[in-house]
Amino acid sequence: MEAKRDYYEVLGVPKEADKAALKKAYRKLALQYHPDRNPDDADAEAKFKEASEAYEVLSDDQKRATYDRYGHEGLRGAGYNPGFQDMGDVFTHFGDIFDELFGGGGRGRGGGQRRAARGADLEYGLRLEFMEAIEGSKKEIEVTRHKHCEPCGGSGAEPGSPPQTCPTCNGVGEVIQQQLFLRFRATCPACQGRGKTIGTPCRACAGRGRARTRDKLTVQIPAGVDNGNQLRIPGKGDIGSPGGPSGDLYVTLHVQPHDFFKREGLDIFCTVPIGYPQACLGTEMEIPTVYGEETLEVPRGTPSGKVMTLRGKGVKGINGRGQGDQHIQVVVEVPKKLSPREEELIRELATLQEGKVGEKGFWKQFRENLGL
Ligand SMILES: [Zn+2]
Ligand SMILES: [Zn+2]
Repeated sequence: MEAKRDYYEVLGVPKEADKAALKKAYRKLALQYHPDRNPDDADAEAKFKEASEAYEVLSDDQKRATYDRYGHEGLRGAGYNPGFQDMGDVFTHFGDIFDELFGGGGRGRGGGQRRAARGADLEYGLRLEFMEAIEGSKKEIEVTRHKHCEPCGGSGAEPGSPPQTCPTCNGVGEVIQQQLFLRFRATCPACQGRGKTIGTPCRACAGRGRARTRDKLTVQIPAGVDNGNQLRIPGKGDIGSPGGPSGDLYVTLHVQPHDFFKREGLDIFCTVPIGYPQACLGTEMEIPTVYGEETLEVPRGTPSGKVMTLRGKGVKGINGRGQGDQHIQVVVEVPKKLSPREEELIRELATLQEGKVGEKGFWKQFRENLGL
């Protein structure tokens, strides 16, 4: 066995600390190393027990006097056997302190009940196609989470071996504690308030009553969600310890890009090519929007790169909150190949334009206008 640390050192208080200072120091440590905050952490559990033991001794005048004079050996010699085997004992013993620590659920709720911890929240990344995010969809997902063990139905007892009434509390789930003249009820440390103990532990879950299982869920994706949005599905995280609620499942959406549409918030952006004659003369075009085709008027003399907007043709927000616009950038396409007839017409056009800007030609005129 390791040498025991000095109790004052454990609580971090001076030898002459008064009761209020001891209690304050212990509360701080108990909160820091509390099993609800440090699940499955053996080191925290050891520290929690160590601090509880130190407080148990130092908060008792007689034990403290013995310890101050004769140390750990002296306590044993005086027939005290400080320390806690089980976390439940700690809660039973200092139930009133834990009630204060955690805001309390009123008297009568023993500290041990705090062990009915909420299950962990889980996260799941879900890939969505671009249009699925806009239109909404239903998705089947498979999540690995802690659920009630199926063979034993969460009882932790091997099927055919029914749970037995807890001998410590006679099935009540609570025990009466007496400290000096104060009597209070605390959660039964033997059964953690369940009132039952396990006969033969379930082989599938080793008596834990819960098991990691792959669970199929249907997720309803509302229309209008965007990349990075998170959906909370209440109660679909890990199940809690007995009496505690389940955690939640957070589904993070990863929306895939689209070849034609780009999305920014509720606005949609896209680029469409038009021919030089259409840009010059103006035209009407059928433009795809996320909700179907719309007619876009391209006016005469539209320059390449011009952005035009179809108001109210963007994405509808979740629950119909707001609607974006669609912005269309028009780009004039220059053909790489020309038929002989096309070439003939373009040459004719070129000659005509040269004529329009005089002998100098297009480029020379352009430079002159800018003083270059
Ligand atoms: Zn089981
Ligand atoms: Zn019990």
